[in-house]
Amino acid sequence: MSARLIIASNRIALPGAPKPGGLAVALADALAERGGGIWFGWSGEVVERETRGVRLFAEGLVEYAVADLTPEEYEGYYLGYSNRALWPVFHYRVDLAHFDEADFAAYEHVNRRFARLLVQFTRPDDVVWVHDYHLMLMGQEMRASGWDGRMGFFLHIPFPAPEIFSALPQHQRLARGLCSYDLIGFQTNRDTANFRRYLIENAGAVVEDARTLRVFDRSVRIETFSIGIDPDEFAELAESREGRAAAERLGKITENRALVIGVDRMDYSKGLPQRMEAFGRVLDDHVELRGDVSFVQIAPPSREAVDAYQMLREQLDQLAGRINADYADLDWMPIRYLARSYGRGSLAGLYRLARVGLVTPLMDGMNLVAKEFIAAQHPDDPGALVLSEFAGAAEQLPAAILVNPHDIAAMADAIFRALSMPIEERRERWQSLIANVREQDIAWWRRAFLASLDDTQT
Ligand code: UDP
Repeated sequence: MSARLIIASNRIALPGAPKPGGLAVALADALAERGGGIWFGWSGEVVERETRGVRLFAEGLVEYAVADLTPEEYEGYYLGYSNRALWPVFHYRVDLAHFDEADFAAYEHVNRRFARLLVQFTRPDDVVWVHDYHLMLMGQEMRASGWDGRMGFFLHIPFPAPEIFSALPQHQRLARGLCSYDLIGFQTNRDTANFRRYLIENAGAVVEDARTLRVFDRSVRIETFSIGIDPDEFAELAESREGRAAAERLGKITENRALVIGVDRMDYSKGLPQRMEAFGRVLDDHVELRGDVSFVQIAPPSREAVDAYQMLREQLDQLAGRINADYADLDWMPIRYLARSYGRGSLAGLYRLARVGLVTPLMDGMNLVAKEFIAAQHPDDPGALVLSEFAGAAEQLPAAILVNPHDIAAMADAIFRALSMPIEERRERWQSLIANVREQDIAWWRRAFLASLDDTQT
């Protein structure tokens, strides 16, 4: 029997509740495939007094263990250090970062508290897999609490160039903490190379083999595992009742016009203002397209308690309003900008309806929307994908129309090219894209990570 799997992540999908996304399903599957295990994380609740322990739920062979946060922890660990310092810096926005020692202290405190809670549930032959930027120090804290079994970490967001990472006042603490894991997984080769270079140049790391460094008196394996989706699920969702209903509702409005679609959390890393500008530029440059193309941008608000997100909201409201005022006509609205979320079924139906998918983040760990858009297309008449070269997905999807999202004129050209792409070229590109999405799907990702972790020396 293989070792039990223990997963830790900031948020977890509780049993009974619908799984909010592909990752939740993938991790639940990983636990089931291992024949059981524990999924530990924040309950999503903020309560006045720190509850002593964890609450346990079970579903099949999987146990769920959740802990609450106090208002101070939520403010310092989650909103503060995770989302006002780590998120902007790791997305190359040092200008938006807010460095506060008290926030870091709260981050360290929650990582330590979570580690101590989780260690109580572990058995010596378990395998521990910690996820994402909220919990980078959890591994080190688990080691300090006596855990010496196998332990891996996967970073879902980009790892920046060493010069950017070093802007964080606590960069040395974070790097040392990360190296307590036996395996550190990144989304792309670019991220892996950035972290290796940081350790070699700043921490005296010595190369042991192609994927292993000797650093801080340990051997640490550093490898790329690009996260994927379940493409069959998205193809099915595109034809589901929910998918068809959404496409029909939007189709009534857009009628025979070509549909350009964007779907992103409302985040400054997603390049939404640049994308709107570029669409306006298309209408400027191509008078013949006015009235014939509609851009629908779905942008559910997120992290609204953080200032930078409130500013983005105002900026987008203004920009969409201005472009619409400039170009709209009695019977046509160029941009439909919807600041709300839609279910995955509806999104799949809208992806399929679209002629062009716009995925143009300024920086993105992977970007699953790009892969979902591809998976939802009809093979006979697939839409074209315009993809930022700064999305992690670009490394795997060279057959997309790749763009620099900072170059508004080039983006406008790319949108125009996508809109006028002949069907043969769309089919050819799509065949290549879908082959990539199928090959490295979500099951491949979790299996590859866990196989590598099982294979590390302890
Ligand atoms: N998503 C959704 N409803 C929405 C907008 C997005 O379910 O209204 C989902 C989308 O299908 C995708 C995920 O949210 O699976 C976003 O993942 P991505 O990697 O693109 O970006 P992130 O939000 O993680 O930065």
